[in-house]
Amino acid sequence: ATPMALLVGTSRGAQKGILIKGPQVLEDTRRIDTLVLDKTGTITTGVAQVTDLAAAPGLHPAAALTAAAAVESGSEHPIARAIVRRAQSQGIKIPRITDFENLPGSGAVATIKGTRVTVGKSDLFDEVPPELATLERRGTTVFVGWDAKARGALTVADEVRDTSGDAIRALRAEGLQVWLLSGDAEHNATAIAATVGIDAEHVMAEVRPQDKHDVIQQLQEQGRVVAMVGDGVNDAAAIVKADLGMAMGTGTDVAMESADIVLVHADLESVPRAIELSRETLKVIK
Ligand code: ADP
Ligand code: MG
Repeated sequence: ATPMALLVGTSRGAQKGILIKGPQVLEDTRRIDTLVLDKTGTITTGVAQVTDLAAAPGLHPAAALTAAAAVESGSEHPIARAIVRRAQSQGIKIPRITDFENLPGSGAVATIKGTRVTVGKSDLFDEVPPELATLERRGTTVFVGWDAKARGALTVADEVRDTSGDAIRALRAEGLQVWLLSGDAEHNATAIAATVGIDAEHVMAEVRPQDKHDVIQQLQEQGRVVAMVGDGVNDAAAIVKADLGMAMGTGTDVAMESADIVLVHADLESVPRAIELSRETLKVIK
């Protein structure tokens, strides 16, 4: 591989919105046979909307939304942004919080006027009232509560990016094995996978952030050469562990810093383009 040819390949990538961080990266790109995709913010836009809101008996839904939005004002998670936007659009004045704490892969906690308020998965609470637990699930349902009891529920739905399905089908046609890796519930992950043409047997749901790294390692131990595409703080370790790490240009700084390639257009179509570029570049070199 002549340095000159790699330089040319790298600058051609940059023109297409594929930011390649070093000369070795194109060689790594050519070798991959397995692609692992994060769901939220990668296959989907990550621009979620609150579609349902409910509160436990005795609490006004707007009060549940206000508490949730206050906690989430400290988070950059797509779910958090959706909840804050919904509160703002209802003209709610979001209270100040202190001692914000992120719970990667499950939620967030903060103090509002002396009360510790939690937002996130149901297992963060000891008690979830039945009227909240049965909330229609046309997306991801998260709960807000305090004193170990869930008091409100919010369903957040996210759209699949227009180009995700075509890109994934093209990659599979090239012979790559494509996996979906998500911290979200099984039924949401499987529904998205079906939409974009990923086999149900290649869906790994309810994976905690610290375990995303191990999933990559297990695939590597099976002899696979793995690329990981993600956008979140929770994807960073997996992006580093992968033979080729890619981050969406709309993602968090940590994800982009961890990646070998940044997809500026935040579009999975850039993945087959990057592979094609690596093949062309390295063919010239030989
Ligand atoms: P993904 O792997 O799909 O990007 P994450 O690992 O970030 O998802 O999150 C997994 C799950 O944890 C979410 O589906 C949600 O239920 C919960 N969660 C994570 N962060 C938050 C947050 N800030 N607010 C509410 N729920 C959250
Ligand atoms: Mg994500």
